Amino acid sequence: MVHEVPDIALNNGVEMPSIGLGVFQTPPDETRSAVAAALGTGYRHIDTAAAYGNEREVGEAVHASKGGRAAVFLETKIWISDYGYDQTLHAFDKSVGKLGVDQIDLLILHQALPSDFDKTFEAYRALETLLKNGKVRAIGVSNFMVEHLTNLLDEAEVVPAVNQIELHPYFQQPEVQAFNAEHGIVTQAWSPIGGITFYREGEHTSTLEDPAIVKIAESHSKSPAQVMLRWHLQEGRSVIPKSTKPRRIAENFDVFDFELTTDEVAAIDRLDTGKRGGPEPDAITLESFGREIPEA
Ligand code: NDP
Repeated sequence: MVHEVPDIALNNGVEMPSIGLGVFQTPPDETRSAVAAALGTGYRHIDTAAAYGNEREVGEAVHASKGGRAAVFLETKIWISDYGYDQTLHAFDKSVGKLGVDQIDLLILHQALPSDFDKTFEAYRALETLLKNGKVRAIGVSNFMVEHLTNLLDEAEVVPAVNQIELHPYFQQPEVQAFNAEHGIVTQAWSPIGGITFYREGEHTSTLEDPAIVKIAESHSKSPAQVMLRWHLQEGRSVIPKSTKPRRIAENFDVFDFELTTDEVAAIDRLDTGKRGGPEPDAITLESFGREIPEA
């Protein structure tokens, strides 16, 4: 049975579907079919990024879908190499050109550039201009830690609607979540089922095999992935699980017919190891992570 996905209200009143399909590491030639499978299943939200190299294929699948562009909430990200006021305005043109749309629903900065926060702030100012001009419906950030958010809020006119951060049972960033909540910023979980821990094999055990999660999954006749997604949703977070496989894309969406108990939610909260899987946000520099984003 397909359930309607509940929306999360952003701080400017825009409604965002709480589950989206992530397409990081989805090769361009598999992106159309993954996005088509998701939209066919009932997803109405896709999370891509200029740096993923698959915005064009996301756009093609959205336009070819039954509901077309109007039925989908499109989220994309500006890469650090395009930070700066004019550069970021141009990066918007590149993204809409590839996506084949006039407006983006949610446009976020992919990372802070802590060593060049002025440039980060200029990029955010460009997002504010795009919002003012109706080119985007909401703006936000990703991988911003408390210090980065504090610096941004000191100068920004618009409070970010979303902060997309690494968040799964093994890495929960409670201090960032609390800061987001205090300022009306929606926490969006990347690697919501712990994907980043699968790519870094050996350093972590897999969240999919975690005994506490497996036990909860068995008691609800659900999969570990479904239990983790449900945990996020019950704690009020947006999730963007990635898969290229139609069966898993459907499985990750089938999370609206059961509820975790307070004890089960608390048991997953206790799995936090405090160990980050992705890059340290303070170590992001143009020298080590910069790369050119092609024109549309
Ligand atoms: P996820 O937690 O979504 O896990 C994805 C991995 O899990 C893939 O290996 C996928 O393989 C596998 N998988 C998916 N569903 C299931 C399932 N039901 N059972 C078992 N395995 C499953 O991790 P991601 O790192 O991909 O994060 C999700 C999204 O978050 C990204 O696609 C991207 O949109 C965003 N992201 C943002 C970042 C940022 O810096 N802002 C950084 C990283 C991610 P398969 O495809 O073979 O099914």
